[in-house]
Amino acid sequence: MNHSFDTVIIGAGPAGMGCAIILQKNDHKVCVIDKAVFPRNKTCAGLVTGKTFKLINMLFDNEEVDGLFCYTSSFIKLYRGNQLLVEAPIKNSARLVDRIDFDNSLVEKYKSLGGRILEGERNISVDYDQNRVVLSNGDIIGYNHIVFADGALSISHKLLKVDKRKLAFGIEAYVPSEQFDTSSVDIYFDCIEDGYLWAFPHGKTVCVGAANMYNKSTDYKKTVSDFLRSNGVDPEKQRYVGAFLPYGYVVNQEKLPDNAILAGDAGGFTDPISGEGLYMALRTGMLAADALSSSEPKKAYLKSIQPVMSIVKNGKKAQKLFFNSGVQKTFLKKVQDKRDLVAYFYDNMVDEYRYDYRSVGKMYSDYKNEK
Ligand SMILES: Cc1cc2nc3c(=O)[nH]c(=O)nc-3n(C[C@H](O)[C@H](O)[C@H](O)COP(=O)(O)OP(=O)(O)OC[C@H]3O[C@@H](n4cnc5c(N)ncnc54)[C@H](O)[C@@H]3O)c2cc1C
Repeated sequence: MNHSFDTVIIGAGPAGMGCAIILQKNDHKVCVIDKAVFPRNKTCAGLVTGKTFKLINMLFDNEEVDGLFCYTSSFIKLYRGNQLLVEAPIKNSARLVDRIDFDNSLVEKYKSLGGRILEGERNISVDYDQNRVVLSNGDIIGYNHIVFADGALSISHKLLKVDKRKLAFGIEAYVPSEQFDTSSVDIYFDCIEDGYLWAFPHGKTVCVGAANMYNKSTDYKKTVSDFLRSNGVDPEKQRYVGAFLPYGYVVNQEKLPDNAILAGDAGGFTDPISGEGLYMALRTGMLAADALSSSEPKKAYLKSIQPVMSIVKNGKKAQKLFFNSGVQKTFLKKVQDKRDLVAYFYDNMVDEYRYDYRSVGKMYSDYKNEK
């Protein structure tokens, strides 16, 4: 069977749905294809910052969205190993989502607008010359434009020869909160080289995980299980899941055909220090949708994602410095017991991108002036 669409989107995660919902609202003829059947899980700690929350509200037309969140926290804590350095109140609460429910809600929103989605398509291939996707049963889906929103290991990367070693890797376990309890967004340094460990509250569970630039010599499971053991949790009783994520490696999408666009993890869009990817996935997906309504979509898209690109590129430069053990030692000494400074940093550089990683110095002097 043959079908044809203006736009085919591969992947129904936040990037794909960010794009699909806007296109569907604009009566674009769109088809989303995902290998999974929803609801499906995605390895993720589920932290939603203020800037991401705004995008979620836009997608849901400012409908009530509180039900999407499983926890809300007003504090961030920084640790060196198991030593608490500082507990800071944050201006806008950090929200947490369960990715099974969150991603499914995005898909349901898209469907409620009449959106078309093919789920469980585990083995598709893209024929870039003929502008068509061939499904596992041989059906053909033609397109004018294609958006790859299929995550860190996108099928488009084969053509682009993306090197998996340039990605980061993270592993996590959802620990029952009777065993490990916290009500704040907890970041632990000095637990994993070139990365950090986290414990984020999700209500009945706490997501405990660690990530760094993918490194074959890192024993990811041991990193998290050692941490759990040192906190009195039996690591053998937990279930660990891992996944790749981009961490400052922007994929050169100019090498793809002019009618192909990459959004979210597929394009390399995550924050190279925090690893936050939900914001950039939704943002680039939504920007892709806007660009697809213009006369030269790829050109418009590459222009509109420049601010996101510069955050990633500057973040990549800062990453080396931030995870350098000497620099990190100085940083941690500087923030110890500095509640206001840590809150200012979180509110202005994490919750919102009011400063990018080039302007940490400016942020610090503004903080001092405002004090
Ligand atoms: C351990 C870990 C913790 C994280 N924690 C956070 C956090 O707390 N906050 C935050 O903001 N970000 C976090 N991230 C990053 C965040 O999860 C990603 O950046 C985000 O999910 C990217 O969204 P996406 O839509 O681009 O891709 P995805 O969410 O990966 O969605 C891709 C979709 O494409 C589908 N797909 C994949 N391959 C194919 C194929 N061949 N054919 C068809 N469909 C396909 C998948 O089934 C999936 O539905 C974390 C990542 C990891 C690994």
